[in-house]
Amino acid sequence: MQSEYDVIIVGGGAAGIGAARRLAANDASALLLEASSRLGGRAFTEDLGGYPLDLGCEWLHSGDRNAWVSIAEASGFPVDRGDPPWAQAHPGIARNEDEEQAAQRAFGGWEERLRPVARGSDRASDALEPGGAWNAYVRAIAGFMSGVAPERISASDYLAYDDASTGKNWNLPLGYGTLVAASLPSSTALRLATPAERIDLMADGVAVATRAGTLRAKAVILTVSTAILSGETIRLPPGTEPWREAAAALPLGRNEKVFLEITRKSAFEPDSHAYGNLRDARSAAYSIRPNGWPVIEAFLGGDGAGILEGEGPAAGFAFVSAELTGLFGADVASAVRPLAATSWSRMASIGGAYSCALPGQSNARARLARPFEDRLFFAGEATHPFDFTTAHGAHDSGQRAADEVLAALRDRARQRRRVAIAESTRAAGYGPQPR
Ligand SMILES: Cc1cc2nc3c(=O)[nH]c(=O)nc-3n(C[C@H](O)[C@H](O)[C@H](O)COP(=O)(O)OP(=O)(O)OC[C@H]3O[C@@H](n4cnc5c(N)ncnc54)[C@H](O)[C@@H]3O)c2cc1C
Repeated sequence: MQSEYDVIIVGGGAAGIGAARRLAANDASALLLEASSRLGGRAFTEDLGGYPLDLGCEWLHSGDRNAWVSIAEASGFPVDRGDPPWAQAHPGIARNEDEEQAAQRAFGGWEERLRPVARGSDRASDALEPGGAWNAYVRAIAGFMSGVAPERISASDYLAYDDASTGKNWNLPLGYGTLVAASLPSSTALRLATPAERIDLMADGVAVATRAGTLRAKAVILTVSTAILSGETIRLPPGTEPWREAAAALPLGRNEKVFLEITRKSAFEPDSHAYGNLRDARSAAYSIRPNGWPVIEAFLGGDGAGILEGEGPAAGFAFVSAELTGLFGADVASAVRPLAATSWSRMASIGGAYSCALPGQSNARARLARPFEDRLFFAGEATHPFDFTTAHGAHDSGQRAADEVLAALRDRARQRRRVAIAESTRAAGYGPQPR
């Protein structure tokens, strides 16, 4: 079989682009197949109301060891190393500081109790205080972090992320999605709107069927989300069932954003933050006038994000408008208007926000990251051992998979050379002769 490329990368998100960068740096030829009509996947900056708003990833988490920071700086993208808005509560909201502190203490207590739970049932809900007054708050924050209810969170998985995080959250004023989409090397061939439909292993490589025909390469790096991997849209070779099972043990949670445009600027303090309702597990976190822009971004997780998934954007706008009215008073209705709402859970090529290991399943990440038959390699945020759920974890997983491919291709080339030497030695009458 004649391979057209060394590697076909399936998926043009942060992982696929990370893989492409490593392959290009090592002079391996690559073709990237992307199902949608744009690059970036869950990294997506859209120009809304004249502002580059991030519909997906936005924060350079663990900024002091985040690969996208150096990529941004090398390409001239500004990086804002200031504190994130959630460090500064919006002034003037009628807040009960005692209640806020009690809610935050309850969340801290839940996180502490996760350690013994991780050694036992591993079900994060077992760390909730039975009948705890602030359980709704704990559920909402867990929903922001993991996109699901604590009943479906592996405590050890949650702690693996938490322990590795450096707590530095930096920002890209031009958009995280802008950076990711701009970072595909020019030497990588790209086909947008070309979903991989089927992957077959061949004697010395792989064949990837698409609606535009079958493409061949020496290896494939598969970077699609766990929702796609565990579903039916890509047919994988026989024997890959354990990889599908690992993906199913790492389902995507729900996280969505609702953006409102501020029509009366003076009503809100720039770069500030508010939390909707301490007693409602669906409540949103509000980023108010990020970068000074006349915008409010509501971040919803778990049940809150479920409002958008189940009832659509109008219900999402109604929910956040009601919360904002509760915070700022009835006048707020005339100071804002709907701008956009995301629908990650309903996007056919993504299917949710980010992966969360089910209780007892934190080792599914390592199971998913293993190569199959040295020709099919797996990357994507869900495969990272501790930086899962992030764009930098996705990037690093792509680089890890590219290194595995490069090593496998070197091994294959060495093996071929050994066979060729053995054959020429035999042909010259030296060495063991076939009977
Ligand atoms: C609302 C929200 C907020 C977030 N906030 C942050 C944040 O602040 N900081 C952070 O670091 N992370 C954040 N994340 C998570 C981050 O965006 C993801 O972890 C990361 O972008 C995932 O990258 P990936 O390459 O693994 O997957 P993806 O981005 O999903 O890339 C996979 C690609 O594969 C494509 N694809 C699917 N099927 C096929 C097929 N058959 N053939 C070809 N291509 C296919 C998809 O279209 C997609 O482009 C957020 C995510 C969401 C949804």
